[in-house]
Amino acid sequence: MSSVINYFAHSFIDRASDKRKDREWLEQQIRSDKSVFILFHVDRPFVKVDQLNKMFSLSKLNYAQVRFLLDDEKSKPLWLFLGVEYEKSKGKTEEESDPVLVDSPFADPLQYDRTVSKCWFAIETSAHDSNPQNIMSMFKEHGEFFEGNFLKLMTIHDREEASVIAQARSVFCWHDRNKYCSTCGTSNRVEEAGFKLACDNAQCKSKDRAQNKFVPSNIHYPRVDPVVIMLIVNPARTHFLLGRKRQFPDKMFSCLAGYVEAGESIDEAVRRETFEEAGIYTNQVVYHSSQPWPFPSTLMIGCLAYATSSEINVDME
Ligand code: ZN
Repeated sequence: MSSVINYFAHSFIDRASDKRKDREWLEQQIRSDKSVFILFHVDRPFVKVDQLNKMFSLSKLNYAQVRFLLDDEKSKPLWLFLGVEYEKSKGKTEEESDPVLVDSPFADPLQYDRTVSKCWFAIETSAHDSNPQNIMSMFKEHGEFFEGNFLKLMTIHDREEASVIAQARSVFCWHDRNKYCSTCGTSNRVEEAGFKLACDNAQCKSKDRAQNKFVPSNIHYPRVDPVVIMLIVNPARTHFLLGRKRQFPDKMFSCLAGYVEAGESIDEAVRRETFEEAGIYTNQVVYHSSQPWPFPSTLMIGCLAYATSSEINVDME
């Protein structure tokens, strides 16, 4: 159970996945004056930088401004339908609201009304021009492509925009690494508003592992890599265990973390990674909260883990 909302998890958009196949509806929304378009150059969002406060915000464009990109028949830029933003309901005052209620279009029927406010789209511009400077010169009054590491990407002005970046960045990075079918090497074609890839080779067959037979279907969905990140509590429940990597900035510490391996549960991964990194045995594992981590497509699963030993054996690798 969690009502914690982490940095990249402030999603206010209904992804409306049922609309991804509705080409007619999507065309209407793309041409709507209300729709919002954000740009990327592979993994770099197009942003406005507030140099004074060392923060940034997404540069939000409209259809008239990006039409030349979408209509470019030669390069056919990749675009994503990110989802629908609803009007916020005025039904409850702040005092009446449940203080532990998360701000989500799916948390409470009284929190949002279901009237569509606007649709969100993202366009990947590198097919139009591989040089980001050239794209920036086309939109120079509107911002620049983000430059910096993951810590800088966590200086966004509006937390809700962080969730939009997480969604689009992970999907664009997936497209960048999956241009060809992993079974036969033929080009993949984009379907479902950017959220599905299908092999162009009609003869390409992949094995349906549940049915144990080969079927003429080779489709791919955006990849998500689960990672456990855990706060280790000592047996006396008086101390926590933190770690740090050599490349961390001075005085920066973090919870221990590691990838969940194939065929492994979250609990098993927490115990294994804790032992490998610190030599500590853990028993009870409790889920805390999670967030997408778009570097490029990790799901961070936050847990508390209760230690049954105290002797730390640090992994110096
Ligand atoms: Zn194939």
